[in-house]
Amino acid sequence: MPRLPGRGGHPHVFDTPSGEVRPVVVDEVAQLYVCGITPYDATHLGHAATYLAYDTLNRVLRDAGHRVDYVQNVTDVDDPLLERAKATGTDWRDLAESQIELYRSDMEALRIIPPEHYVGVVESIAAIAAACQRLLDEGFAYWVEATGDDSGGAPDAAPDLYFDLAAAEDLTPWHLGQESGLDRATMLVLSAERGGDPGRPGKRDPLDPLLWRAERSGEPAWDSPVGRGRPGWHVECSVIGAQHLDSPIALNGGGSDLVFPHHELSAAHSAALTGRDWSHSYSHAGMVALDGEKMSKSKGNLEFVSRLVADGVDPRAIRLTLLAHHYRADWEWTDGDLTAGVERLSRWVSWATSATGADDRVLELLRDRLSDDLDTPGALALIDSKIASGSTPSTGTIAAIDALLGIRL
Ligand SMILES: [Zn+2]
Repeated sequence: MPRLPGRGGHPHVFDTPSGEVRPVVVDEVAQLYVCGITPYDATHLGHAATYLAYDTLNRVLRDAGHRVDYVQNVTDVDDPLLERAKATGTDWRDLAESQIELYRSDMEALRIIPPEHYVGVVESIAAIAAACQRLLDEGFAYWVEATGDDSGGAPDAAPDLYFDLAAAEDLTPWHLGQESGLDRATMLVLSAERGGDPGRPGKRDPLDPLLWRAERSGEPAWDSPVGRGRPGWHVECSVIGAQHLDSPIALNGGGSDLVFPHHELSAAHSAALTGRDWSHSYSHAGMVALDGEKMSKSKGNLEFVSRLVADGVDPRAIRLTLLAHHYRADWEWTDGDLTAGVERLSRWVSWATSATGADDRVLELLRDRLSDDLDTPGALALIDSKIASGSTPSTGTIAAIDALLGIRL
């Protein structure tokens, strides 16, 4: 990203647990962890909007003079990926590899600055298994026998390892609800909807999450101190995060469907493994709908970055279309939105051709907008109003649009 003169203001970002817009806590380095994709439907616009939100934060932090250490995981082995591979007759490794490649090229097309560490579960299996063993040794985990449906049809399957939320509440600074603020009834519903198994017999608490799933016939598995199997979802982020960052980090981000259980329970694992809070702040991007419903793999109502690009849409227009919505808002993707993005790009490009060396003070105003909870709609409106007023841009403004909004005119 191009360096701009002076320094931008320190970013303030909405924190879900407190419900307040607060300064991002930066020690020596701004440590960011954003939960990554499960690689089987890369990259729909809902995902693109989420990673663009934290790309904007990344840019604003750098512009404010901070060094950023950004970690993102990729859930390259998990139930939805395995189910999709099975349904399409593909090897799950080939599916993951091709989708990760597609995701990377989509992010590059959208000019998302890559994270410092982009880490897969498969490459982290040994570390995750070792963490599961530690949780077991230290009284944070217990075995649940596999019976009936839970065994995947194998009555002799080894037991699965679960995390004991009550132990975490007793022994660590973490408590259930501290991040999501949800009541228990809502947690139970969301757990069932989002990969949990509250109805499974043998668990101490229906909300206790899976740490390690013993091998089932036809599923990938790795030898480990906690038996042959594969990791649960939340522990993956706790361990991958801890390998590269020192908790508490500045901010754990992701889509708003990760508020519970994913972020809440990753934080529980992290507190049990380190004795510390995982993050100073939790930030969530809104959901993007298509045809009246949230874009999601289960509903199949997805629009993809790669499909739009293949249809000849300039990736800068896609970026501008996404930036026109505040990152926390839930909104619906429409053809009209994209048309507005294409037209805006064309106005901006032709405006940029008249740039001169004079200072027009737009940089300062752009910085103000973006450091205030990443107000990208405000930033876009600012540029639009300059164009509408007939003013001539400075070359500095064109550089600022490139550095802060990621749009090279
Ligand atoms: Zn995560």
